[in-house]
Amino acid sequence: VKRSWIDSHVHLDTFEEAGELDAVLARAASAGVGRMVAIGGTPAANERAVRLVAAHPLSLRASVGYDRDEALKALDPVPVLRMAALPGVVAIGETGLDYHYGPETAAEQCTLFGQMLEIAAERSLPVVVHSREADDDTVAMLRDHAARFRGDRSRLGVLHCFTGSLAFARRLLDLGYHISFSGIVTFRNAADLREVARAVPEDRLLIETDAPYLAPVPHRGQRNEPAYVVQVGEMLAQLRGVEIDRVAEITVRNAAKLFTWEADA
Ligand SMILES: [Zn+2]
Repeated sequence: VKRSWIDSHVHLDTFEEAGELDAVLARAASAGVGRMVAIGGTPAANERAVRLVAAHPLSLRASVGYDRDEALKALDPVPVLRMAALPGVVAIGETGLDYHYGPETAAEQCTLFGQMLEIAAERSLPVVVHSREADDDTVAMLRDHAARFRGDRSRLGVLHCFTGSLAFARRLLDLGYHISFSGIVTFRNAADLREVARAVPEDRLLIETDAPYLAPVPHRGQRNEPAYVVQVGEMLAQLRGVEIDRVAEITVRNAAKLFTWEADA
């Protein structure tokens, strides 16, 4: 049996715009990355993710929402609520808080994040969360969300592209969320993050590329693509002292459960 992977977080926009999507999906498939979650975050990215999932129903799932960069636009949340009911749309996001790049819009980011969490609760869908230098507000909002969530408790959501501290990870894990590691875990200066990657329990662990950003070593500095999620998996196997097959198996199982795929597809 060929080892298979799920890339739990990829932005397909630039690949499609460059006319390279089929080639990127083919390279991913030959690396064993047959499935991935196409992430939205803006009105245009959401529509694209929904359209691509309809065209690739076996390999893609979609997440739709408004990300923190949209916080000042006062966007209508209703289209997200509607799209969240479409086939193949399995999550809300990415959305969240970034006080590193946008400290001056913190209040608006919280309002928007709160709206997205309401939609996730309404639809009983997991939320795909971005958080940077906003630990306390993120935990507070995700705690409230967990308290009112009436869906499957094991499908609350994921803190994607995790770069925070072990203490932040523990607070999220205690609330029931998953943690996803990107290529950053392979970067030479990421020793603290590697400690977090050792500590996350098997049943909460996800991996992603966040392509086209943040290519893992040895592709660092190049455009990232879903095929490279294998390098993230290799690093996690090394850190956790387990076979790479084990990392593939558990991360596929976790992503398939969170984003509702057949685990053995
Ligand atoms: Zn992303």
